[in-house]
Amino acid sequence: MNHDRITEKLAILADAAKYDVSCSSSGSNRKNKEKGLGTTGNGICHAYTEDGRCVSLLKILLTNVCIYDCAYCVSRKSNDIKRAGFTVQEVVDLTINFYRRNYIEGLFISSGIFTNADYTMERLVLIAKKLRTEHKFSGYIHIKSIPGASEEIIKEAGLYADRLSINVEMPTEKSLALLAPDKKREDMIQPMKVLKQAIIENKEEKKLFKKTPVFAPAGQSTQMVIGATAETDLEILYLANGFYKKMNMRRVYYSGYVPISNDNRLPAIGTPVPIVRENRLYQADWLLRFYGFNVDEIVDKNNPLLDMEIDPKLGWALRNMQCFPIDINTAEYQLILRVPGIGVQSAQKIVAARRFRRLGYGHLKKIGISVNRARYFIQADNDYEVKDWQPAQIKQFILSEGVSKYKADFSPQITLF
Ligand code: SF4
Repeated sequence: MNHDRITEKLAILADAAKYDVSCSSSGSNRKNKEKGLGTTGNGICHAYTEDGRCVSLLKILLTNVCIYDCAYCVSRKSNDIKRAGFTVQEVVDLTINFYRRNYIEGLFISSGIFTNADYTMERLVLIAKKLRTEHKFSGYIHIKSIPGASEEIIKEAGLYADRLSINVEMPTEKSLALLAPDKKREDMIQPMKVLKQAIIENKEEKKLFKKTPVFAPAGQSTQMVIGATAETDLEILYLANGFYKKMNMRRVYYSGYVPISNDNRLPAIGTPVPIVRENRLYQADWLLRFYGFNVDEIVDKNNPLLDMEIDPKLGWALRNMQCFPIDINTAEYQLILRVPGIGVQSAQKIVAARRFRRLGYGHLKKIGISVNRARYFIQADNDYEVKDWQPAQIKQFILSEGVSKYKADFSPQITLF
């Protein structure tokens, strides 16, 4: 291996991969002192498992050569940038090398489209296949599938990858036609359906035959670019909710558009999507997945945009003061979950603790509840007097205490498994 040439390719192809957030830590801390956006200078990005463990992945493109011309993408064919490409064997060797040195615990591999979708996808699958079969690699592998790749290749990818993602890219077909005219929505939706079905079938088969090989055990995810086009948060969240409900999607990632082009179809350079919008979308996403909210409780036709000042759960509570205060000693779990300042774990602890005693604010503090925020929405034994505050007053109090400006009852992190 020519070391200098490989190092140069790694710099180019890791840098090009950083725009894909579907395995990085968007929604949590994206700061990076070296080269930005969740990847370190040598292509290693950090991601989080569901139990909060931080893992390192080698995150690279196979090549940044692409026959497509998606306006929002740095690798688009019309962009005058330095191009590079690894061979399949080079990616395999790099992964094994980094893995043996304990630099990484897995690989995230994506690619520009060269020759055609199948040809590109075959090479991505070959990398995973070689790692698994020739090197008995047991680390994590995430393959970003190429839109338009055939069903057979997508299914083969699932035999070697832990996770497959197919990026829907734009929230609506209209935006996709405008900014990525080479792509068709169906080329993304159809493989998602194939994957969903294959994952279900694999689970069924495994129940019958224990030795059935696993198929994409970490499921599928997708990513959409937000802020490059005018879609509202309502449209974005409806689409995300549909993916969770209809495609069994493990995660939807929201990638705030980073202006990289003077193309007049795009927002002008210098007007990036505020990170707070991305965060609010992740918070709303958590409300859909873990808190039992419907999309139209979070945003609706009259209020299609998330409030940037406060988190969406607090926003819902302030619009629905008729539901409060709730008695923490008797209320149902699902209702406790809706109280600002109380997260899933805290709600579970409340329900467990009140079996033994009536709870006052002192107990709630010990459980770890943000009483400064929750106090406007609950009744507990003793302590605070419940007053008839107006929503605007409560919002003001909470903002002035600095409790909610960017925080919520959860810290959305990227999960892999
Ligand atoms: S197909 Fe992928 S790599 Fe190619 S221009 Fe579009 S987004 Fe970029």
